[in-house]
Amino acid sequence: MQTLDSVSAMQALAGELRAAGRTVALVPTMGALHEGHLDLIRLAATRADVVVVSIFVNPTQFGPNEDYTRYPRDLEGDLAKCADAGAHHAFIPTKDALYPPGYSTYVNEESVAKPLEGVSRPAHFRGVTTIVTKLFNIVQPTCAIFGQKDAQQVAVIRKVVTDLHLPVEIVTAPTTRDDDGVALSSRNAYLTPLQRTAAAAIPQTLETVKSMVAKGERRAERLTAEATHLLSQFRQIRIIYIAVVDPLTMQTQREVVPGNSLLAVAVWVEETRLIDNALL
Ligand code: AMP
Repeated sequence: MQTLDSVSAMQALAGELRAAGRTVALVPTMGALHEGHLDLIRLAATRADVVVVSIFVNPTQFGPNEDYTRYPRDLEGDLAKCADAGAHHAFIPTKDALYPPGYSTYVNEESVAKPLEGVSRPAHFRGVTTIVTKLFNIVQPTCAIFGQKDAQQVAVIRKVVTDLHLPVEIVTAPTTRDDDGVALSSRNAYLTPLQRTAAAAIPQTLETVKSMVAKGERRAERLTAEATHLLSQFRQIRIIYIAVVDPLTMQTQREVVPGNSLLAVAVWVEETRLIDNALL
């Protein structure tokens, strides 16, 4: 696996691959890679000739009081994992290369990004859509792989790709979970064993809601009330939102449309912010 740390080297490689008619799959990550990321890389390898993984802890998607400085970083371990999972190139730009002094251009999606995460993390998606657009311009991928775990992120990126006519196919990968059902996340490293037990209530709650829908319940209010009740049993958990939404627009739905409704959950497990979701 080749490592590239400059924008110009990555752009030169992208040009060569394009000229040679090779398809390219991009997997954007912030590093601290876990099996969820590796599943994305493995999926990417089935979708294109060449897999590029970017590793960059993007400062613009963190709020002022968020965990940018303490976000887990393990570049050496990440590079070994990328190579094992089948990546051909790792793009690891520096913060100054992507955001030099005086940087002032941002990409803003103004509808899908507004509810849910957009309420409690107001500048988050502006950072995500900016970095993803920049990576698309640098890597020029044929397709890009994103995890369903961050369902609103996928929806926002799809909207940007449509609205800005970006020639990239967006591919969604299913959520990879641990044995206790908790969605893998780099932030799980922050959890103590007791907090981890509380976090396991999140996937259990998603399963309960899914079975209520399977039994015929359609009223979003009933489903979110039950989810709230279940998660409130844990004193370590503080609910940020629980909502039944349209998976493309993220607008709340009053009634579940089977196959076209998403239960989206965000909680604080003490000082760790976790999100998860289930298609209903
Ligand atoms: P991150 O490094 O957290 O920015 O995530 C990079 C990519 O990996 C995003 O597309 C995430 O949605 C995806 N991802 C993170 N966790 C998981 C997971 N447990 N299952 C599937 N994809 C994931």
